[in-house]
Amino acid sequence: MSPSRDAQKPAASSSQFRLRAGIGNDLHRLVTGRKLILGGVRIPFEKGPVGHSDGDVLAHAVCDALLGAAALGDIGRHFPNTSARWKNAPSLLFLRRVRQLLAAAGCTIVNIDVTVGLERPKLASHIPRITRRVAVALGLKPDQVSVKAKSGEGLDAVGRGEAIRADAVALIQVRRP
Ligand code: MG
Repeated sequence: MSPSRDAQKPAASSSQFRLRAGIGNDLHRLVTGRKLILGGVRIPFEKGPVGHSDGDVLAHAVCDALLGAAALGDIGRHFPNTSARWKNAPSLLFLRRVRQLLAAAGCTIVNIDVTVGLERPKLASHIPRITRRVAVALGLKPDQVSVKAKSGEGLDAVGRGEAIRADAVALIQVRRP
């Protein structure tokens, strides 16, 4: 981004909004015969995450980052895995619900950044679709959502192909009362 002349001046909105950051992560075991879904997109692969819902680590990490930024608790509080209501639930539903919770609290999402840790398969070709899906669920433009993938270099549970993880950061604006 090139520096603008306006960069010297305080942003017009700085007195009306404050920025808050949140972090989220998720880890699921991968087993044969489960569907692999990331950001609501089905990825063809022989393994998928074990989970009460669809095990969408990307959506879960993003939900926690957003809830954390707004200090609204965590995904377990809003979507308990003891509830039959969320059994095999599509996690895009969680993203849409979190969007509503934030809106009700006067929060606007600035951007999301998420890294998926997965040994196989390669995600590069799926990332544009995942990005669009997450952006639509959250009411954002695609350039407000960044999705990256990283392999585990053969190390730890991700590297051995036994697990999938996601780490997310969210920035939000909160309207001052
Ligand atoms: Mg999860």
